[in-house]
Amino acid sequence: MISIKSQREIELLKKAGHIVYLTHQHLIPYLKPGITTNELDKIAEEYIISQGATPSFKGYEGFPKAICTSVNDEVVHGIPNNYKLKNGDIIGIDIGACYKGYHGDSAWSYAIGDISEEKAYLLEHTEKALFEGLKQVKDGNYIGDIGHAIEQYANQYKLGVIRELVGHGVGTSVHEDPDVPNYGRPKTGPRLKEGMVIAVEPMLNLGTRRVAILDNDWTIVTEDGRPSAHFEHTVLVTKDGYQILTGE
Ligand code: MG
Ligand code: MG
Repeated sequence: MISIKSQREIELLKKAGHIVYLTHQHLIPYLKPGITTNELDKIAEEYIISQGATPSFKGYEGFPKAICTSVNDEVVHGIPNNYKLKNGDIIGIDIGACYKGYHGDSAWSYAIGDISEEKAYLLEHTEKALFEGLKQVKDGNYIGDIGHAIEQYANQYKLGVIRELVGHGVGTSVHEDPDVPNYGRPKTGPRLKEGMVIAVEPMLNLGTRRVAILDNDWTIVTEDGRPSAHFEHTVLVTKDGYQILTGE
């Protein structure tokens, strides 16, 4: 069931989303060669708690850490560990925060030091693909319009579109209906209505769209070992468009 949020719920979702945004901003100065993903996890968790929220992902279906840190060929659900970031890495950081029972969810991919041209190309076009998808978000449009726009954009730039993982509704649970795929056909799927809150989150690969899962049963990696990027915002569907909740 897709829920329509009340004004009170929207206020709480805005607060949760803003905490996620602030946590990303808080982490950015630390994103340098030499820091471990465990250290980033600790910094993020302490910050989320300092804002009166809790990390949405910690304990979610048994996930052991506060945030997801996915490096290079890791697509999503990377588990923070003792890996030290190196010059030339890219890292996808996915953060969820729960405030008074309501969640915000946003992922961003970052360059560590100087990255290759092809990694810069991947980051640039995955971020742009997110906004191409968001352009389709408004009352009356369809979920399929979002995925179609992202897929078309990714195809244009020869990036692989992952199909196994999708965006989702956000509310009192961090993952709610509907699924929001990054592929699809126009005018198909559920209809968007004012007051819905969804996370749009393209995951694009420099190589093929094929992915595999690591032995830890969490981390998704590209099958061909080439880099992957992930950009995500939680947004409110409005009459004429959308409002980003995981922003300033
Ligand atoms: Mg996320
Ligand atoms: Mg999400």
